[in-house]
Amino acid sequence: MAMLIGIDIGGTNLRLGVIESGVGKNAKPKLLEEIRFHADFSGLCKTHPPQQAWQKILATLNDAITSVRTKYPQVLAVGIGFPGFIDPHTQTIAQSPNLPGLRNVDLSQDLNALLGLPVITENDALAAAYGEFIALADKRQHLIYLGLGTGVGGGLILNQQPFQGQNGVAMEVGHIITQANGRICGCGNHGCMEQYASASGVAISYQLATHELCTAAEIARRAQTGDAHAIAAYDLAGRSLAQALAHIIKVIDVTDILIGGGMSAGWPLMQTAFSEQLNADLIPVLRGKVHVHVTQMGDQAGMVGAAMLAMQKL
Ligand SMILES: [Zn+2]
Repeated sequence: MAMLIGIDIGGTNLRLGVIESGVGKNAKPKLLEEIRFHADFSGLCKTHPPQQAWQKILATLNDAITSVRTKYPQVLAVGIGFPGFIDPHTQTIAQSPNLPGLRNVDLSQDLNALLGLPVITENDALAAAYGEFIALADKRQHLIYLGLGTGVGGGLILNQQPFQGQNGVAMEVGHIITQANGRICGCGNHGCMEQYASASGVAISYQLATHELCTAAEIARRAQTGDAHAIAAYDLAGRSLAQALAHIIKVIDVTDILIGGGMSAGWPLMQTAFSEQLNADLIPVLRGKVHVHVTQMGDQAGMVGAAMLAMQKL
């Protein structure tokens, strides 16, 4: 049994999970405590030159981890789910769309130098996919994870291992184009799935129809009371997600699907449109063979997965 820290780096906060690994091959990790810190890394990168922003990011992470280690001195390693492309050869952060200016920074090595602990860094959605995989009672050989949050992230578990791809860009599912000439996306293209199926996508759909800006959670509440525009926004989210998923399944033929992330609570509002669209888009031989489950771990999967990946490297 080992004690680890798993970190999820979000838009404006940093979440540190203290995790007990469990014992043996089928060990179930246990989240002992989750500690939140305010950290606007995205804002830092917009207002500071990259080198300065990086030093501030490192200092914030070092302070947060050090404060948690004071309470849990047994911690053996740190795993970080990072919103960016992780080079599978060097494990450095090649680029992060949310943290503009950062290129080829080595978070694992730089933090290791400050902490004196092993640190591993993995793409946040892939870390979440691994966290979900580890927690499954019935281990699948392969698994697709779709994380619905501010954007839509994806992670692929292939032969029970996280699949990074050749450039750390595997499963950037949110940027599969589902609407020709659709909404402009942060990646530079138009009509990407996450412009419709993410929390911000649902908010945009609703705002376009009503001229009112609401959170996805508020729109979900309104949908439940029969607001037609709110229902339509979640319907479009479900359809867009299904369109992208049908493409992925046709390419890799993995049919065990887990839906997670902070917005997965809105899943019941998307489910009907999602199932209709998926069934329509799949090739006949695959119909009825796709198993979609909403995960139980919510937004804790990233911390658990990152910690367990760190454990693997120990
Ligand atoms: Zn895009």
